[in-house]
Amino acid sequence: MSDPSSFGTHHEQVVFCHDEASGLRAIIALYSTALGPALGGTRFYPYASETEALADVLNLSQGMAYKNALAGLDLGGGKAVIIGDPRTDKSEALLRAYGRFVQTLHGRYLTACDVGTYSTDMDVVARECDFVTGRTVEHGGAGDSSVLTAFGVHQGMRAAAQFTWGDASLAGRRVGIAGVGKVGRHLARHLVEEDARVVVTDIDAEAVSRLVDQYPSIETVGSTEELIAADLDVYAPCALGGALDEHSVEALTARIVAGAANNQLAHEGIGKLVADRGIVYAPDYCVNSGGVIQVADELDPRGFSFDRTKARATGIFDTTLAVLERAASDGVTTVEAADRQAEQRIREIGRLGQIHLP
Ligand code: NAD
Repeated sequence: MSDPSSFGTHHEQVVFCHDEASGLRAIIALYSTALGPALGGTRFYPYASETEALADVLNLSQGMAYKNALAGLDLGGGKAVIIGDPRTDKSEALLRAYGRFVQTLHGRYLTACDVGTYSTDMDVVARECDFVTGRTVEHGGAGDSSVLTAFGVHQGMRAAAQFTWGDASLAGRRVGIAGVGKVGRHLARHLVEEDARVVVTDIDAEAVSRLVDQYPSIETVGSTEELIAADLDVYAPCALGGALDEHSVEALTARIVAGAANNQLAHEGIGKLVADRGIVYAPDYCVNSGGVIQVADELDPRGFSFDRTKARATGIFDTTLAVLERAASDGVTTVEAADRQAEQRIREIGRLGQIHLP
């Protein structure tokens, strides 16, 4: 994925937004609109500098273009970042000022929630803007996207099991989940229901005890390091990015890594390291697309349908299996295979826009 030095060579458009009175400082990046309007969330984060925010938004918008393409959506990829602390800097005026900037793009960018923004914030943004997804159910939105994100991760994990062991079932397999927040706890439920042996960890002790109260069969360990080193069949990073680095890959006992966290590889070279250790890595953006599939459905003129979205998210099984098989046949890492698949779709389907419709 890109760094700021690649700006101008790959991204279609980058917009800097500033509204002094409300304190809004935001950057909207559109990586590609070849497949349709660029969909991606708004991250509200206290970046140390504008340079850091720019690097993040360029990287994240490219990631969204690949994720949306691989998920089979007719959507390009974009992302926005608001620079500030969401706990202290978020206000109605700031969110509405942001909405007006999104509106200036006339639908080339469709926004949604991300770290630091919630469905209720999207309702506020939508008071100034027609191009908002991820809204509350009361406002016609799809609500909490973590439900289908977890469902999709489970599908991707089953596909990785099919590829690795010739059987998609995770029954009896020991699966370790790092991070049992919104997505991780739903994933744990799917796995328990499938009779997998689940072991979890989280820095938030309350999140762990809430889950164990509900599912007493779930084991716990005290730290992510302990989880990684435990005897696992599958490791599911569901906390923050960078879960796989030289140390964790070296310590891993699991044959499969499949989890919800974005940007799991600490750097590009980790993909090769993982493959060399015989670990099957189901690429993050391939298995965690259930959430974006959900918010994209809000754009359907028939209105949001949970059943239609769930059916679509079931396809993450086939997509993941195809990526893993392509990596094996092309002799590349699974990340390279996913990237190739996404780039191919952007090229082939994006090209159709060149056929003039009167
Ligand atoms: P969340 O904040 O609800 O949950 C994250 C959990 O990880 C929290 O319980 C937190 O305490 C825990 N955590 C943080 N650092 C940890 C550490 N070092 N060790 C162990 N636990 C730690 O977030 P979420 O919505 O569940 O998302 C989880 C991941 O999935 C994120 O990386 C997110 O970007 C990604 N993701 C989420 C969605 C979605 O629909 N929510 C969609 C795609 C990707």
